[in-house]
Amino acid sequence: MSDEISRDDLGSVEYGATAAPEPAASAERRRPSREGRHAMPEQDPQRRAHNFDEVTLGYTPELARAEADRCLQCKNPSCEGGCPVGVHIRDFIGAILTDDMPASVAWLKKRNALPAVCGRVCPQESQCESQCILAKRGEAVAIGRLERYVADWDRSHSLEERHSAEPAPASGRRVAVIGSGPAGLACAGELAQRGHAVEVFESLHTGGGVLAYGIPEFRLPKAILADEIASLERLGVAFHYNEPVGKITDARELLESEGFDAIFIGIGAGLPLFLEIPGENLNGVYSSNEFLTRVNFMHAANFPTYDTPVWRGHEVMVVGGGNVAMDAARTAVRMGAAQVTLVYRRTEAEMPARAEELHHAKEEGVQVRELCGPIAIEGNTGWVTGLCVQHMELGEPDASGRRRPVAVEGSEEVIPCDTVIIAVGTKAHKQVAEITDVKLTDRGYLATDEDGRTSDPRIYAGGDIVTGAATVILAMGAGKKAAAAIDDFLAKS
Ligand code: FAD
Ligand code: SF4
Repeated sequence: MSDEISRDDLGSVEYGATAAPEPAASAERRRPSREGRHAMPEQDPQRRAHNFDEVTLGYTPELARAEADRCLQCKNPSCEGGCPVGVHIRDFIGAILTDDMPASVAWLKKRNALPAVCGRVCPQESQCESQCILAKRGEAVAIGRLERYVADWDRSHSLEERHSAEPAPASGRRVAVIGSGPAGLACAGELAQRGHAVEVFESLHTGGGVLAYGIPEFRLPKAILADEIASLERLGVAFHYNEPVGKITDARELLESEGFDAIFIGIGAGLPLFLEIPGENLNGVYSSNEFLTRVNFMHAANFPTYDTPVWRGHEVMVVGGGNVAMDAARTAVRMGAAQVTLVYRRTEAEMPARAEELHHAKEEGVQVRELCGPIAIEGNTGWVTGLCVQHMELGEPDASGRRRPVAVEGSEEVIPCDTVIIAVGTKAHKQVAEITDVKLTDRGYLATDEDGRTSDPRIYAGGDIVTGAATVILAMGAGKKAAAAIDDFLAKS
């Protein structure tokens, strides 16, 4: 499928009357502004700390136009080089400026099948926005906020009214996609567009992977995800839930007995890592995955209306400094903990979490204990009573470029708490070997070439199960790339 798109193509997009843009801005108003970026309205921190509603509220049409006005519409848009899927950033912003919202949606969706998701959770500050020419002299254009605005404008229309490119004629070929996270969804969408019959096998009862069970409702409302999946179903993608491949069937059977011509594996890498310190088996210790899954996915916050309980800690320690730790801490706040503290071995400056997430967490009352390395979890009668930490200082940079934490002898301290949530990363599940016997890396991930080909020419893979824990947009990029390689394979076989 050609990636080129013309104004004529876009002219055929029809939308209903809802949320139509305001009259065109005058040419004078469109002169780019060098002033700082426009803030996005948010729920008040005191209020949002007690609810699971979305924290950020999105740009109004006026704010979106004012922010779009800051874009210089560069001849060579450097921002696009920072986007892992190469979104046509200049053009989708340019269409906001001319009040042509259908065209803006079409430009955006040309390269990104899940813009409402990416507009909310992508780390734009280290991707497209870091490459925006304005970032060199001040503040980058708020590309992520504009992406969300355009995607939400699209979502305010019914599925039938929304822009979707016409899929290619049916090829008669069948592809199985294992896992419905962002990698699987992006691959499925791309293959369906190319005319192939796609069936997604998902072990859980609903789709989306981490987008569903990990990222909390207050950052990514589940209705948005349901909407994106409904768009794929409309495109003809079939979803089989509660079907863990490797248990009932496996890749060989799908290919040799079930009649699939190719397979994409996007099963993520969700096996939690622990600290391997004494006391990790005490009651009150959670992996971040278990805690977030119970609260966000199984509605533990609404127990007993929903039947999955969760221990509601009073004094909660969250170990880690990434986005997952922020999600766990902010969820614990909303579950009613009196005190939530992030415990991190380095300082805030080295935290891998998005600056925005840390800022939001602190606004909601989360405390940070920097330079503390947990060495044991203390307990009484089987329950957590404290986290024993050793104080650290920063040494020379390690392989990641961040300064290495070095333990300070004799600095141990026990911080009283009743809950410890461990958010120090995940790894590939051994179950991958039950799905397929293709080559694995030394660390147990699927080994692929850069287009997602495994050692079996009929089997492709992408996302966290190839790269290790990464980001939504990288998983989507891998899914799209593999879809192109699968398309190529099907054309030749
Ligand atoms: P996953 O999203 O893990 O999806 C894999 C799917 O495969 C799951 O649905 C799983 O149930 C299914 N599956 C597994 N085994 C089988 C099987 N045998 N048969 C069938 N189905 C199977 N990234 C960002 O860019 N921004 C963020 O803000 C962000 N926040 C995060 C917050 C949390 C709490 C977590 C855990 C991660 C976060 N990430 C974030 C990372 C991002 O979500 C992942 O990198 C991304 O989801 C990986 O996508 P994936 O498709 O490879 O795998
Ligand atoms: Fe606009 Fe920045 Fe991209 Fe230039 S680099 S087109 S100013 S977003």
